[in-house]
Amino acid sequence: MSDTIAQFEMPTWDPCPFCEIVAGRGENRPVINSTEKTLAVLNPRQFEIGQLLVVPRRHAPTILDLTDDEAGEIMKTVRIAAEALVKTFNPDGITVYQNNGVASLQEVPHFHMHVVPRRKSSNWGSGPPHIAALQPKDGGMKQKVTVSWERAEEIASIIRPNFKTI
Ligand SMILES: [Zn+2]
Repeated sequence: MSDTIAQFEMPTWDPCPFCEIVAGRGENRPVINSTEKTLAVLNPRQFEIGQLLVVPRRHAPTILDLTDDEAGEIMKTVRIAAEALVKTFNPDGITVYQNNGVASLQEVPHFHMHVVPRRKSSNWGSGPPHIAALQPKDGGMKQKVTVSWERAEEIASIIRPNFKTI
């Protein structure tokens, strides 16, 4: 499922894993918080412990497909997520980013904003472009940092109490 208004080449992932979460069939991505238009879910790829995703409930493939209301509620949820990660993990910094189209390394064709607690010791370098270097084509690094449902739920459960509701 894609249907973006942009002319970007889009990744395919069927069924859409974020629509599956909205439908209550999330796999390995426990919901941390929900609002009328958004969900905050744990990213099963824990390059940094606590890194999470904020997604619209509606299947909007890219930033160009969001309504103004969705964009506003997503950003508000991202800010609250950043506060929750600071309270939970006391990180050295927070990285926020998102990708649109295959050329930007988008993998799931449903808008998602990454919110990542950072450590000075992190091996990400200065930002997302460096992730590519950590993710060889064989997916070796992804495998290493992908956590089990049990571990994902354990991490989500320590963030949840610090997540203010809108
Ligand atoms: Zn979707």
